[in-house]
Amino acid sequence: MKALKERILKDGKCLEGGILKVDSFINHQMDPVLMMEMAKELAERFKEAKIDKIVTIEASGIAPAVMVAYLMRCPLVFAKKKVPSTMEGILKSEVFSFTKSRSYTICMSDTYMSKGDRCLFIDDFLANGNAATGILDMAAQVGAEIVGMGFLIEKAFQRGGELLRGKGIHIESLAIIESLDNCEIKLKE
Ligand code: 5GP
Repeated sequence: MKALKERILKDGKCLEGGILKVDSFINHQMDPVLMMEMAKELAERFKEAKIDKIVTIEASGIAPAVMVAYLMRCPLVFAKKKVPSTMEGILKSEVFSFTKSRSYTICMSDTYMSKGDRCLFIDDFLANGNAATGILDMAAQVGAEIVGMGFLIEKAFQRGGELLRGKGIHIESLAIIESLDNCEIKLKE
């Protein structure tokens, strides 16, 4: 997506260890106009997929996901990173965080993801696919189907894209980073 790629080149910053910082328009301060344009593009790419529900993980996935959910006229449910004492029917999965270099538990109530639901997973980044794998695990626990996954930014030099496409999942990414070597952002055309 042209507008996102241009913005990444203009405002994105490379950090050590293959991390792209997009805090000025996605991860801390947000640009709602660009966010809505990105959501429209994702909704368009999945319009034939007969989606019942959008799924994401707090916190950074929520903004794009709620806009996609609004456009596709379906509910959004987000996995939480702390188990609330009031939650019933808890689904859990372990996720290794690439940016924080540690594992954490994600959880969701089975009230909001059920057998037969056709779900679309939306997240800001695809790196090694750990967050996505955690969501696939929780969906499998209740018999829901993750029919597609949409990411704002995919880092092609990490293994998530290959892993998830290898499972036959419909993956869409709005900008693909080929390399961040020498702190230079190289985008796929
Ligand atoms: P994965 O689970 O695919 O390994 O990593 C995806 C998650 O880690 C995303 O939800 C995102 O929050 C975070 N992440 C991975 N790589 C980056 C990155 O380069 N920049 C930022 N800001 N977040 C990242």
